[in-house]
Amino acid sequence: MKAIRVHQFGGPEVLLLKNVPDPEPSPNQVLIHVRAVGVNPVETYIRAGRNPNLSLPFTPGTDAAGEVAGMGALARHVSVGARVYTSGSVTGAYANMTVCEAADVHPLPDNASFAEGAALGVPYGTAWRALFQRARAVPGETVLVDGASGGVGTAAVQLARAAGLTVIGTAGSDRGAQLVRDLGASRVLDHRQADYLTEVLKITENRGVDIILEMLANVNLGKDLPILARNGRVIVIGNRGKVEIDAREAMVRDAEIRGMHLFNVSAREKVVIHAALRAGVECGTIKPVIRRELALEDAPRAHELIMEPGASGKIILLP
Ligand code: NAP
Repeated sequence: MKAIRVHQFGGPEVLLLKNVPDPEPSPNQVLIHVRAVGVNPVETYIRAGRNPNLSLPFTPGTDAAGEVAGMGALARHVSVGARVYTSGSVTGAYANMTVCEAADVHPLPDNASFAEGAALGVPYGTAWRALFQRARAVPGETVLVDGASGGVGTAAVQLARAAGLTVIGTAGSDRGAQLVRDLGASRVLDHRQADYLTEVLKITENRGVDIILEMLANVNLGKDLPILARNGRVIVIGNRGKVEIDAREAMVRDAEIRGMHLFNVSAREKVVIHAALRAGVECGTIKPVIRRELALEDAPRAHELIMEPGASGKIILLP
């Protein structure tokens, strides 16, 4: 089969298309014929060597959608030919075959394309966990999705609207802003503007927002705290460096700064998340936004694109 292999850590150019032997599933694993692969920022960090415990060579990626091609004796919840999407991969998703633990293989509803299925795992899993398991969002609250134009942000806007929250979103391009508006945000701000977060106080008549889903905490966390309502929660989803905060801003609001890392979900939480995502796809409240589809061998270009400004949904690789 064909797979993207990383033989040394480095820039996007280390992503090389190679012929490798087909993987074999163990008893509790599933073999998937991959039709689409979701590209996530974390794969660029891993490719660059941020996870020194990872041994080379490897195939990146956790998010794929395709058809079941085989399974081990204990993986009884799937059948050959079934349409599925993944939330983890043992052998790597950037390939035309991948082996996954059975718990990371989920039915893909008929109304979703393979590209849409490949956009579910990390982005929607993260957005759902951030909103409902970490922020404990309830209908009627207001959420600021700071970085609403990318994979996690577009998912969060859809999930929050469907759950009855008022959404304020941010984007850094006109195209991204239009997308966030189209997804149902009541107001869209431009995070390229220096004082865009103070606009939130005007919009909320000085009350502040109940929840902030923060995609770039190292830049924004210090400015997030003063725009929180009492009992507000900031969920740190993305962070690329250090940041200074005034803890008093949290103190006077009884506010919480809560981290989240998708890889920390328990087995039970994962079942809950994917039951919710499946229902959302089937009911039409979840509709992943595909920005660009590229061939598998264009993985280096996909890694460049995902780190450039101007996000507007997901980047997908087609094996
Ligand atoms: P993405 O598709 O590349 O989107 C990045 C988003 O960040 C875009 O909306 C981008 O907007 C926005 N952004 C850029 N500069 C910003 C700024 N100064 N302030 C606010 N937002 C800004 O990435 P993603 O998949 O949505 O992931 C977002 C972040 O969360 C990444 O850092 C990723 O590593 C992280 N993440 C963490 C977890 C976890 O478990 N904690 C899981 C998934 C993702 P423009 O391009 O329009 O400027």
